[in-house]
Amino acid sequence: MLQSNPALLDIVSHAKTGFSDRFGFNATLAAAAPGRVNLIGEHIDYCDGFVMPFAIDRYIVVVGSANGTPHARVSSAISDEIATLDLTQLQEISEPKWANYLRGVIRGFQDLGHTIPGFDAYIDSSIPGGAGLSSSAALECAMATFLEGLLEIQLGTKEKALLCQKAEHDFANVPCGIMDQYASAFGEPNRLVLIDCQTGEPKLVPFEDPSLTVLISNTMVHHELSDGGYALRRKHTEDGLEIIGKSSWRDVTEAEVRDRWEILGDPINRRARHVVGEISRTLAAATALADNDVEALGPLMAASHDSLRDDFEVSCHELDLMVEIARKIGRSGGVIGTRMTGGGFGGSTVTLCESKHADSIAAMLGAEYEKATGITPQIFASRPSRGAHLLE
Ligand code: ADP
Ligand code: MG
Repeated sequence: MLQSNPALLDIVSHAKTGFSDRFGFNATLAAAAPGRVNLIGEHIDYCDGFVMPFAIDRYIVVVGSANGTPHARVSSAISDEIATLDLTQLQEISEPKWANYLRGVIRGFQDLGHTIPGFDAYIDSSIPGGAGLSSSAALECAMATFLEGLLEIQLGTKEKALLCQKAEHDFANVPCGIMDQYASAFGEPNRLVLIDCQTGEPKLVPFEDPSLTVLISNTMVHHELSDGGYALRRKHTEDGLEIIGKSSWRDVTEAEVRDRWEILGDPINRRARHVVGEISRTLAAATALADNDVEALGPLMAASHDSLRDDFEVSCHELDLMVEIARKIGRSGGVIGTRMTGGGFGGSTVTLCESKHADSIAAMLGAEYEKATGITPQIFASRPSRGAHLLE
């Protein structure tokens, strides 16, 4: 049941073959950027909160070469079409949709004053799309890194992550926080990326214990309401903050939310309770890790899931089911903590477990989930890995 992660160099070599098949010459540049999984701190990166994701060892790879024309031609293993972009113009949203992430990133470079030379590029990936593992942020960060290689420049890591976040806002219409692009850009092997979303500063937190394994269980469902649902949640948090009369969620206490429960009204009061609770849970989790008290993560992850399910209402039947199965396996079966991860409405759960039980836990999660839903989930283990970089 436990799927293996394709080696990065195999994805690159696959992408290079895809490139030469499609364009008839060889790619000379290759960039990779990882997806991410969030251990704790959900839906609070746009609320000045703390979040604690890591870059997973699954990647989007962009390979390509300059083509001596004023156009970019881009193609992906997931699509037969070649998107042609006129680089003499400022990029705008267009078709095909998947190429908008690339247009957004190119636009970011154009807005910085760069003239992009014509190029051909091909995309391959080991990150399941729409699974809450941020294939979109990985695509943006891989493209930005590819352009750095093409232009022979290097942006600051923070500048690159923010440019990619803006591409997601303006070209994919997702008003996301900074977590996904930060994790993909700043990731390091054996490190979690603890982000203070108020200051925009990431801190790398050691996560090296080989006796711990992080399992990612992709429910394989993606509910359509996600697009509007994400923006609406963000709006609720903005409205809540305004009613409370503070300029940052970091200055709001649980008591203040309780005191204003009626004025906030439903569902904004529950959204507010999630934000404030999740910020303190994430800080508690970071402290626990620093103290080597990994067992403390269990109750924190459980409370995070319950809050996302009941107060923030971004879970769904399939995520709850996957979490319930892991909870039933329990601490005696090697499960330390489990929760939904990512934006929700489908996607994946994250389960922290003892490495020696990882195979049996994955087998049970897979079998029980399939028995209940008829859907075969995708389950793999992940270790923190290196953020966006050029290869060679
Ligand atoms: P997530 O970021 O959680 O994976 P999103 O819906 O934000 O989900 O992003 C998924 C979108 O990213 C896809 O619909 C597609 O447009 C784009 N994408 C992901 N992987 C690829 C790929 N390998 N090639 C081209 N586009 C991709
Ligand atoms: Mg995304």
